[in-house]
Amino acid sequence: MSTRSSSARVKPASVIRPLVHDLHAYVPGEQPKIKGLIKLNTNENPYPPSPKVLAATKAAVDGRLRLYPNPAAQALREKLAKLHRCAPENIIIGNGSDELLALATRTFVEPAAAVRSSRTEQSRSTIQYFTPSYSLYPVLAAIHGARTNAVRLNSEFAIPSLEVLRKSKAWDFNAALTLVTTPNAPSGRAFTTTELDALCREHRGVVILDEAYVDFAEENALALALKHPHVLISRTFSKAYSLCFQRVGYFVGHPELIAALDKLRDSYNVNGLGQIAALATLDDLPYYRTNFRRIKATRARLTSSLAQLGFSVLPSQTNFILARPPKFAAREWLEKLRARKILVRWFSYPEVKDYIRITIGTDAEADALLRAAKKILA
Ligand SMILES: *Cc1c(COP(=O)(O)O)cnc(C)c1O
Repeated sequence: MSTRSSSARVKPASVIRPLVHDLHAYVPGEQPKIKGLIKLNTNENPYPPSPKVLAATKAAVDGRLRLYPNPAAQALREKLAKLHRCAPENIIIGNGSDELLALATRTFVEPAAAVRSSRTEQSRSTIQYFTPSYSLYPVLAAIHGARTNAVRLNSEFAIPSLEVLRKSKAWDFNAALTLVTTPNAPSGRAFTTTELDALCREHRGVVILDEAYVDFAEENALALALKHPHVLISRTFSKAYSLCFQRVGYFVGHPELIAALDKLRDSYNVNGLGQIAALATLDDLPYYRTNFRRIKATRARLTSSLAQLGFSVLPSQTNFILARPPKFAAREWLEKLRARKILVRWFSYPEVKDYIRITIGTDAEADALLRAAKKILA
């Protein structure tokens, strides 16, 4: 028999690791290409990157595309270090912050199969987070074959007090990796630096404060990453800096943690145009600050207008709001809005299934949403 016909008998499923075969992969928000669609489902910024960023990116598209980019994104790390008053050694750049979150699981967490069953050993393979929070975290744990410890936030999506966490024993202060989204998604609620500091102090494993939305918030916790050796701050150019397409994110933290992550990083993980766009972004921060103000103003207006229509809207420090709609179930609202070419996000998990998450768009988009909501309620 020829090699060809015998190899044709290999069943694809038989060569895939069971973990991968059974994995429930992360489901990103839809990116449909429907004409006239108002897209308020993935927290993209409604305003384009600054003209200077577009010009710098376009100017870089030439014969240089044949060359590898700077492997360590050195210029970008230097510029970020100046901005954050730290050293380039405190910073690692990723192909989006999602890449770095995945890298962190491989750097700090043992796969469950590699540890014994004692409680201390299990902590070494535990990825811990509050729920509801960024739905990527459990997927990262599953991919890595790590244990998860998901602890529910209290009724107002607040972090339970340290006393409660200590007493309940549900929270593992020795977990290898703890992920806290702040301000949180999808609730939009921010945690204070004081409470995060107190939480971090109790931890013996790595704590990542995922600040993807921090530019829309009142305070940030960057200082904690420069003060505590086991705390990393995660930031991204995607949401606040209108650069989702380019995939650039970064961590700030202790040089030894950063160097450890760097060992596992792909040599050319951040593409050259992304590095150029991010650098140009940092040269034009006032442009973005204007947009933050506009988004926060639209957020305030949308919050009060939706409340007048009977929505129960949680106060938000992000570029989205979580709202419990009146009259129909949240899932029906998703469909009814979609029928009117407005896309929002709905999550099926129990803590938030009665809510829809609405990205803050332009004022015109907010008006269109309000008009649609009025018609749905009429
Ligand atoms: C969007 C988002 C990210 C990922 O951002 P990228 O840099 O685009 O990968 C990370 N964390 C949270 C909480 C987010 O909402």
